[in-house]
Amino acid sequence: MSTQWITHKFGGTSLADADSFGAVRDILLAPTDFRQAVVVSAAAGVTDDLIDMVGMASNRDTGYEDKAKRMREKQAALIGQLVPGGVGKALLAQVDDEIDEIRGLLKTSWVMRTSTSTSDAVAGYGELWSARLLTAFLADSGLDVTWMDAREVLVVNPAELAAAVDWETSRANLDQWLSGCDTDTLVITGFVASDSQGSPTTLGRDGSDYSASIFAALLSSVEISIWTDVDGVLSADPRLVPDAKVLEELSYDEAMELAYFGAKVLHPAAMTPAIRDEIPIYIRNTFNPSAPGTRIHLQSRTDSPVKGFASIGAIALLNLEGSAMVGVPGISERLFGALRQAGVSVVMISQGSSEHSICFAIPENQAHLASSTIESVFETEQKRGIQTLEITDHCTILAVVGDSMSGTPGVAANLFGALARAGVNVKAIAQGASERNISVVIDEADAAKALRAAHAGFYLSKQTLSIGLVGPGHVGSTFLDQLERRSDWLREEFGVDLRVRAICTSKVMIVDEAAIELPRWRERLAEEGEPADLDELAGYIHTESVPHAVIIDCTASEDVGSRYLDWLSSGIHVITPNKRANTGTLDYYRSLREQGRRADAHYLYETTVGAALPILQTLRDLVQTGDEIQGIEGILSGTLSYLFNNFDGTKPFSRIVREAWEKGYTEPDPRDDLSGMDVGRKVVILAREIGMDLSLSDLEIGGLVPEGLEVGSVNEFLDRLGDHDDEMLTLVEKARSRGEVLRFVGSITPEKGCSVALRSYSADHPFARIQLTDNIVQFQTRRYKDNPLVVQGPGAGPEVTAGGVFADLLRLASYLGATL
Ligand code: ADP
Ligand code: ASP
Ligand code: MG
Repeated sequence: MSTQWITHKFGGTSLADADSFGAVRDILLAPTDFRQAVVVSAAAGVTDDLIDMVGMASNRDTGYEDKAKRMREKQAALIGQLVPGGVGKALLAQVDDEIDEIRGLLKTSWVMRTSTSTSDAVAGYGELWSARLLTAFLADSGLDVTWMDAREVLVVNPAELAAAVDWETSRANLDQWLSGCDTDTLVITGFVASDSQGSPTTLGRDGSDYSASIFAALLSSVEISIWTDVDGVLSADPRLVPDAKVLEELSYDEAMELAYFGAKVLHPAAMTPAIRDEIPIYIRNTFNPSAPGTRIHLQSRTDSPVKGFASIGAIALLNLEGSAMVGVPGISERLFGALRQAGVSVVMISQGSSEHSICFAIPENQAHLASSTIESVFETEQKRGIQTLEITDHCTILAVVGDSMSGTPGVAANLFGALARAGVNVKAIAQGASERNISVVIDEADAAKALRAAHAGFYLSKQTLSIGLVGPGHVGSTFLDQLERRSDWLREEFGVDLRVRAICTSKVMIVDEAAIELPRWRERLAEEGEPADLDELAGYIHTESVPHAVIIDCTASEDVGSRYLDWLSSGIHVITPNKRANTGTLDYYRSLREQGRRADAHYLYETTVGAALPILQTLRDLVQTGDEIQGIEGILSGTLSYLFNNFDGTKPFSRIVREAWEKGYTEPDPRDDLSGMDVGRKVVILAREIGMDLSLSDLEIGGLVPEGLEVGSVNEFLDRLGDHDDEMLTLVEKARSRGEVLRFVGSITPEKGCSVALRSYSADHPFARIQLTDNIVQFQTRRYKDNPLVVQGPGAGPEVTAGGVFADLLRLASYLGATL
């Protein structure tokens, strides 16, 4: 065994219950060549309880007794599970004695009505209990182990940010303590120390990280492992930013900035002793020890300019402003000198170069103290009305940290762009000269969304889309299947990151913070579906965690269509094959188009006409490049196309309809196709696209549902349709006698109006030569006058429609900057 040490620190979450102690033991039992110093925290929650008890006693609240009892029971249970038998009994007896001691100390608080001095003595008992229990547990597992009460060794002078270590005394104490001690493993109480008078004190909340690095320095450890309950330092607080990533490496400076600005995983002071002796710090997960964790050392790799984000809440922003400040030397010194003297800790300062104002942030609970200090320092100026102090509380500071932000242009632009898109107002800005940190002060209410938006701005591809799919029927589910097959490739090749975060049927929906695993959406919908709520879905999709949100409506529902305007107005993009919205009132249509033209929310609906065939895009190209549309005519229904491609008079028309219905080529009720309404809607969409004020009610639709058959069951309808076969036969024969065929078409003529009807075409017309369920549209324009522009191909069916929806989604990604 080497004489060299390594230092471990286990936080409260790693010592909270018997299973956690087991995980800690396994880590310490792993073979090593080093002696192990093991700094421990109190079990999670114990320090909070102890401090609360002091507060209660000083307020004469007898509730602390209950807390003491519960605390004792918890310790008893833990001891019982980990070290049953005599050793455990002795440990529990000690805990009982100490809880009595605590009661005694609390009496002082009760009498003196103050918590100050008692708190330091009481707060550290949890560490004592953890150290003793872990030592007994490890000994039981065969380790050569002893424990140390850090108060016997570590001497500090408490200070505002972090206690200052008396290195000389502490080192001498440690040498003495260790003389004659040659155990392999030394468990040390974190958090606690003694002051220069020998009274117990602490290193401040979360201070056992600092203890670990102090002891690592005192023992000349080769490394420090801080074991906690996450896989390392993450790019942001994972409780607020679900997409946060584990950082492989950080420099000491980066880690310090992140910790100072609130990354709870590490105490900011912990870096200082490590820096001096260049001891690397690893942040690792007790519950996932094979994960590599985060390495914190002198200089981290600089592959990305921004490493992480952190935030501190409960901040007040003070703005001192006025002509008294201009050109007068020493104002800052007077101001900050006085604040320092009063014990106000200034977290951030920002001063404009005009010197007209100084703006700074402090903890909210010091705002009164700061304001009275400033009043007395600048009494004369304030009386003369040449200086004012404005205080804004309920603020949060958001810090962006990274060593190589300096020298990387565009970091600030990216940050402010992301905040602006999320609608976060920035109240003050500061960038340190090191450019390692940009801090912004924002409203506390915006904190979580600002953090998520800023994180997404740097960590996610700019084309990451949060997708909500409404209506996973034939088209919707086929789209999901297509997306599943292509999404990895799109992400890897083009950085287009498509995350389906919600799926909603007419009854139930599922949501997922990260993304729904597409192969499993059907099971999840069946097993976990909550009641469908489109407002909730929209709120969920429109998250700050992801740069863009889009709702894809694959229903045929009027209700869903009526929500597009709200969605677009709130910045959610909309993609739809649903014709309802574009064929509703003209006013609604116009508002949608207007809203969709604004860059912050796009509205795409190519698949409302002819599925994936490029019909609307072609039309738009013609119009936008100055061509003049003289007429559009087309076979716009796949079903009707099929029926008339087959109907040549040899078989009765009603039989063809029934066969098509049986094969599933028609709507469940074939009247929905035969009525011509669907074609009518497509005509309205095309007409509106070229600026015509057409509504469905204005359109003459020559439908094929005979009078009197509009109601009744489908079977009844199909039976009675046979009564009209002769009429149809006459029509087809008449056409044939002229060398023509029947086709059901929609036509749009800007001059003459629009119609939907059964017409006949000569056998050499393009409409006569189509196949199966083909759609065909012919554009007659000034440029394409003699020989019209024709778009033709399958224009219905789930595969092609879903493909068109997918293409619209990729078109959206292009609008958002992807180079596909
Ligand atoms: P311990 O009891 O081990 O000291 P803490 O609760 O003090 O653990 O710190 C770990 C917690 O810090 C994590 O569970 C996580 O929720 C939180 N945290 C906040 N910011 C970060 C961050 N940037 N990286 C990792 N964890 C963070
Ligand atoms: N137990 C102490 C606290 O909760 C110290 C620590 O956990 O780091 O603040
Ligand atoms: Mg901690």
